[in-house]
Amino acid sequence: MQTTKITEKYDILILGGGCSGLQLSNQLIWKIKGGVVLKNYPKILILEARKTYTNDRTWSFWNDGSSGYCEWAANHWRQWSFSSSTDSMHFTHKSHQYEYFCLRGIDFYERSLSLIKDSPNISIKLGVEVNKINKGQDGFLVKTDSGLYSSKQIIDCRYKKPDKVKNATWQIFYGYEITFKSNLFQSASVKLMDDIRHDKSGIYFKYLLPLTDNSMLLQITYIGTKYFTPDHLKEEATLNANQILGRNWQIQRTEKGVLLQSGTYPREPIPGAIQGGSNWGALRPASGYAFSRIEIWSQETASRILKCHTITKWKIIQTTQDFMDRVFLMVLKKSPASIVQTLLNMGKSLHPNVFARFMGDKANLTDLFKVILTSPKKEMVLAALRIAILSCTKEKK
Ligand SMILES: Cc1cc2nc3c(=O)[nH]c(=O)nc-3n(C[C@H](O)[C@H](O)[C@H](O)COP(=O)(O)OP(=O)(O)OC[C@H]3O[C@@H](n4cnc5c(N)ncnc54)[C@H](O)[C@@H]3O)c2cc1C
Repeated sequence: MQTTKITEKYDILILGGGCSGLQLSNQLIWKIKGGVVLKNYPKILILEARKTYTNDRTWSFWNDGSSGYCEWAANHWRQWSFSSSTDSMHFTHKSHQYEYFCLRGIDFYERSLSLIKDSPNISIKLGVEVNKINKGQDGFLVKTDSGLYSSKQIIDCRYKKPDKVKNATWQIFYGYEITFKSNLFQSASVKLMDDIRHDKSGIYFKYLLPLTDNSMLLQITYIGTKYFTPDHLKEEATLNANQILGRNWQIQRTEKGVLLQSGTYPREPIPGAIQGGSNWGALRPASGYAFSRIEIWSQETASRILKCHTITKWKIIQTTQDFMDRVFLMVLKKSPASIVQTLLNMGKSLHPNVFARFMGDKANLTDLFKVILTSPKKEMVLAALRIAILSCTKEKK
């Protein structure tokens, strides 16, 4: 009979070394370097299925410079704009306090790996696929394609593409990082939502990051209830690049994705484990941004681990902001045209700092109130009432 022996024992296993798994290890390392002293540091291992990391995405986020990731970012801008050619409107936000940062995926992965390399208590194994987890009396037993691991605590940061989703709102995007001759295009601001328009099912916009004098990231984004593959937006992305640059541009890489912004699907949390990442609420329902929320989650999780070695179940709850996001999505489903108006109103009347805090998951109550004022009242009030009633009915059941 074949026996599988336990290869190694750990205090904590982090399953999945993507954005949330690596942000958590970065926070642990930064906190320890920053002077958090413990008698025995917990022995931590990250298990990641990928064999190598590639430049598979760009993380953009708003910040006032206080995040450790601002230093890692390849670009940052103080200006971002909104426009609609249908309504002939164009608004630019300029902030002196917040910037829009752009962090290349590969820089994030490589810098995180180099922090882990210098850390005595945290390690990572690449190319290890977690297959099964059993909970025993003293902790967890994790079966992988390359052996068994045991640990007292598990933090599950694996991302699994949601299946059998009901009532979904999707964000679907397709874009290129392109290079061109430097005199063809220059912009001091990020075109955050350019040419916002709508159809019956949702909204579309262009997203344009001017990376250097001769390169940019250009994406076409859809947010709505229709599901299709990102490749359906490819032709539009090409057409737009041609419109801006003629035919004088070269593709360096393609960036595309499908994000589930809202919807219900069967999930199986591991009893007794901590959950992190986009399967467990990291994606902002209204925007699909997750980087900043994962940063807040990882800071808090790291603090708890260092305080008491192992932690009990907890998750980030941003009740008011999540409620507003749900209202926003309900209006989007009923009336995409109202959402185009709301976004343009945000561009027109919201202070850039309020907008940056709202998007960066750091909005205070006054900020949230100001955001509400930019929305079409009737639709928002009706959607808010519907959500409140639905929540009450759910609770009663
Ligand atoms: C192309 C793209 C661009 C994005 N841009 C932004 C942006 O600009 N700003 C923003 O805020 N958000 C952005 N997002 C959304 C979000 O920030 C990312 O999706 C982010 O990577 C989510 O982090 P995560 O940890 O949940 O998942 P991931 O980063 O995908 O990490 C999950 C990890 O788990 C591993 N894994 C899965 N199954 C197993 C297994 N069985 N065993 C071991 N490992 C496993 C995977 O290999 C992966 O590394 C973007 C998303 C995409 C797809």
